[in-house]
Amino acid sequence: ETITKKPGTACIRDTQKHSRPIVKIQDGCEQNCTYCIIPKVRGGYRSTGSIEILKKIKDLEENGFEEVVLTGIHIGKYGVDLKNTYGLDRLIEDIMADTAMKRLRISSIEINEIDDGLLSIILKNRERIAPHFHIPLQSGSDAILSKMARPYTAVSFTEKVSIIRKVLPEITITTDVMTGFPGESDEDFNDTLEMVKKIRFSKLHVFKYSPRPGTRAFEFKDGVEGSVKSERSRKLRECGERSRDLFINKNIGKNHIVAAEMINPESGIASGTSGNYIKIYFRTGPGFEKIRGKLIELTAEEKYKDGLFARYI
Ligand code: SF4
Repeated sequence: ETITKKPGTACIRDTQKHSRPIVKIQDGCEQNCTYCIIPKVRGGYRSTGSIEILKKIKDLEENGFEEVVLTGIHIGKYGVDLKNTYGLDRLIEDIMADTAMKRLRISSIEINEIDDGLLSIILKNRERIAPHFHIPLQSGSDAILSKMARPYTAVSFTEKVSIIRKVLPEITITTDVMTGFPGESDEDFNDTLEMVKKIRFSKLHVFKYSPRPGTRAFEFKDGVEGSVKSERSRKLRECGERSRDLFINKNIGKNHIVAAEMINPESGIASGTSGNYIKIYFRTGPGFEKIRGKLIELTAEEKYKDGLFARYI
């Protein structure tokens, strides 16, 4: 409550309950993917001015938070509705220059919006920007991507991932994939499965397509049977778990800078998120509240639940 008395801190009321507060930088989407209702519900692109964003981040910083997450409906389009050429890259540059926020994380971003400008700013500030991109793939079949109205091909997506990994070798890439989109044949599904195996995402969220009234895809007549959707989801999840295990195992023995988020009062085990987006569990003394929202350095010792167990260095 003391926080909300400060001027210009309306956002903190919503975000202080998160130990990694979110800062919403834009709203709306005009991409009109055929399965998605968001453009109809949320309207066109509306970006928050940079002065307001910088102020929110400074307020959070003053209140002791050491990681913030930039979010929005379609953050790669940040700035397209603003008058000048100010975009996500320049916003990040200004956050790096004008605030002392220790770590900035970019939430979900579309593949086409990760360009050289953005990569070079991340590279320049790699100590302060979480090495993690969540890039929705949805399908590895060009026919399905086109039916979804997703503006890339399997080849262009794969090539961009290679560029990203070349520039930022430590980057973690996670994704969303949808199964059972209308018209998805066995061949289309196999293309997705092969692509997912090849790219080796660090985490895979698998969704079964479900028709939403009001979307263009709702009118598509060539729906996929429920049992087929389930089987395809199972195969993709299995594949995702294998890549996830490899990724988690590679991180054992490494040091991680972890944003401390919560504590289980019964077990006394705390948890937080590493820069490369792994849930890290650790033991802490009774003074957890002192480190909530702060970045702490831990060494990962072993696999534990959905992440790693670590100890103080
Ligand atoms: S899926 Fe994402 S990019 Fe596509 S229309 Fe919905 S919000 Fe926009």
